[in-house]
Order: sequence, then structure tokens, then C-alpha cells
Amino acid sequence: MLQCFQLEHPEDEMILCDRQDCEAIADYLEVEQDGTEHRLCAFHTKSHTYAARLTPRCPDPKAPYRALRII
Ligand SMILES: [Zn+2]
Repeated sequence: MLQCFQLEHPEDEMILCDRQDCEAIADYLEVEQDGTEHRLCAFHTKSHTYAARLTPRCPDPKAPYRALRII
């Protein structure tokens, strides 16, 4: 089963959606049964629950991701 969490961003970065060509900030962290993580924006998530109502969780910092530096 796919688990959805509210994505916690690192202090000085905003994580972008995993989908190619999508430059939106990712608000959702989806974790597949095998542990694969997806960082997705509100448009691309499969979650039917608002991010604000999900449990916050930090993504695996070792997994590659696109980020926007905010400093
Ligand atoms: Zn997206």
C-alpha cells in the first residue's frame, strides 16, 4: 500500500516535485511498499488528503532530488 506523508523540507531548501518538467514545490512524500520514495506536488500526488492533515516526515536525504535553494 502506498503511504502518504506531509513532506518536511530541509531548513535552507525547498524540494521540487519529482515529475519531469514540473517546477512546483513538493508538499507530499509518497512511500511505496518497497520503500521507494516520491516527492510530489499537490497536483501530482495520489493522496486524497491535504498535506496539512498528513503526518510530517523527512524524506531520505540520500535519495536524489531536485531542490530550490532559498538562501
Ligand atoms: Zn508536480
